Amino acid sequence: TRSLEDTDAAVFAAIKGELGRQRHEVELIASENIVSRAVLEAQGSVMTNKYAEGYSGRRYYGGCEFVDIAEDLAIERITKLFDCGFANVQPNSGSQANQAVFQALIKPGDTILGMSLDAGGHLTHGAAPNQSGKWFNAVQYGVRKEDDLIDYDQVEALAKEHQPKLIIAGGSAYPRQIDFARFREIADMVGAYLHVDMAHFSGLVAGGAHPSPFPHAHVATSTTHKTLRGPRGGLILTNDEALAKKFNSAIFPGIQGGPLMHVIAAKAVAFGEALTPEYGSYVASVVENAKALGETLKAGGLDLVSGGTDTHVLLVDLRPKGVTGKAAEAAMGRANMTCNKNGVPFDPEKPMVTSGVRLGTPAATTRGFGVAEFQMVGECILEVLDGLAANGEEGNAEVEQAVAKKIIALTDRFPIYPLI
Ligand code: PLP
Repeated sequence: TRSLEDTDAAVFAAIKGELGRQRHEVELIASENIVSRAVLEAQGSVMTNKYAEGYSGRRYYGGCEFVDIAEDLAIERITKLFDCGFANVQPNSGSQANQAVFQALIKPGDTILGMSLDAGGHLTHGAAPNQSGKWFNAVQYGVRKEDDLIDYDQVEALAKEHQPKLIIAGGSAYPRQIDFARFREIADMVGAYLHVDMAHFSGLVAGGAHPSPFPHAHVATSTTHKTLRGPRGGLILTNDEALAKKFNSAIFPGIQGGPLMHVIAAKAVAFGEALTPEYGSYVASVVENAKALGETLKAGGLDLVSGGTDTHVLLVDLRPKGVTGKAAEAAMGRANMTCNKNGVPFDPEKPMVTSGVRLGTPAATTRGFGVAEFQMVGECILEVLDGLAANGEEGNAEVEQAVAKKIIALTDRFPIYPLI
């Protein structure tokens, strides 16, 4: 009956600190968002107590009648959102969703073809230190030097040469739309499955601001916490009933035990929100805001990888200002703007330094920022980076403090979680 504040002051203080940080920083990490109070409530609910191994109506535990309702709703809503036949909403993360696809469709030693980390792919797409790179013969495609776009001719050539069983499309730092039809054509040429990992842009698809991977993909996976604006987690979608059965077995008992029913309830809530017209307006703004931020940064002398964005992601090439990603991330942090350093294609810097930062608009758009606010954020970023360009890694403390003040005033105009 006692509250967290009463029982554990240390954890309570850490959570309070995090809430304060989120309130007064502009969150520009492209993979993050700000969930609704309803999602937080569902995730912080008593469903965390429940074991429910198995699937709705066929559990290995008693007492599942209410968690079944939550999982059924999550499945019903997500399949409606993506207009597809089958969903598994149990993956604990995007990585586990991908792992389950691999377990279902391929065997250790088989060849997979995915986008390299350097070009914007994800670790789970065959990167050397990841299980996908260790257990499979991972062949990697990249982007073209001249325009930073996926080199579809290279994908086709690599597919013909290496005959992969599975081709993965999708990435973590690729700002452009992907040609799913072309990928499927290539997959069909070599008899491979096409797996679209839409972790980043799934929310844009759900809200109608991005083409769908279906009907081209045999399977699509996603995280639920990025543009989809749900709790941290993953999901798997397909239109093929036989594959759906394999994915279900791969998740449980293949790689997971008891599903996180409180998270699944929160997924159901988020998917319900994503079915509303407001969510469609939200994702349209996310894309519009990303374009506006990109234009401001370009006008201020920065380069954007691929020249711009079709999505919520901007990959900023800092080299025109002679600044590294590491220094930029730190300086922007001092000025209350949170982002992550990120390699640009063919980056000469080491991964812990990099020549770029990745920016995204989903979180700040959720709190109500529009084009004017993102233009202001763009100006703030330029002020901070010009301070770095003039003063080296230390930056210009006076400028950073002045920008931090402006950012705090801006975030106060768009409060989050006022009742918590
Ligand atoms: N796939 C892509 C394309 C991602 O960007 C990410 C997350 O960054 C993942 C998978 C993995 O998701 P998680 O961090 O939930 O394991």
